[in-house]
Amino acid sequence: MLKKIEHIGIAVKNLESSNALFKKLFGREHYKIEKVESEGVSTSFFMLGETKIELLEATNEKSSIAKFIEKKGEGIHHIAYAVDDIYAEIERLTKEGFEIINKEPKEGADNKLICFLHPKSTNGILVELCQEKK
Ligand code: ZN
Repeated sequence: MLKKIEHIGIAVKNLESSNALFKKLFGREHYKIEKVESEGVSTSFFMLGETKIELLEATNEKSSIAKFIEKKGEGIHHIAYAVDDIYAEIERLTKEGFEIINKEPKEGADNKLICFLHPKSTNGILVELCQEKK
């Protein structure tokens, strides 16, 4: 079961200027910046009640964020849902016919195990599942 929206990921060209922009929008500062070298991204996080907003900037040209921005421009990149047991959810959703991009969960930002569902099996939205690492 997916519990709640954990965060919404937004692809941006420049993390620094977007941090300033979203600070104005939200009326608060981001609470952390984290590089995920394996994914080729720099991220920042804002807390809005229960939900976080994650800004993602590519750190190299091969990063999926670089490719996304090249194709679609800046904007909503993914919606992340919190789960208690990512392995059980991968199994359940595979049986339901969803295409899981990485069946072996990987380390994401913010102390999470994550996996992605292919947008072609979810009406065009890249879905991230994330489980707090214990
Ligand atoms: Zn995310």
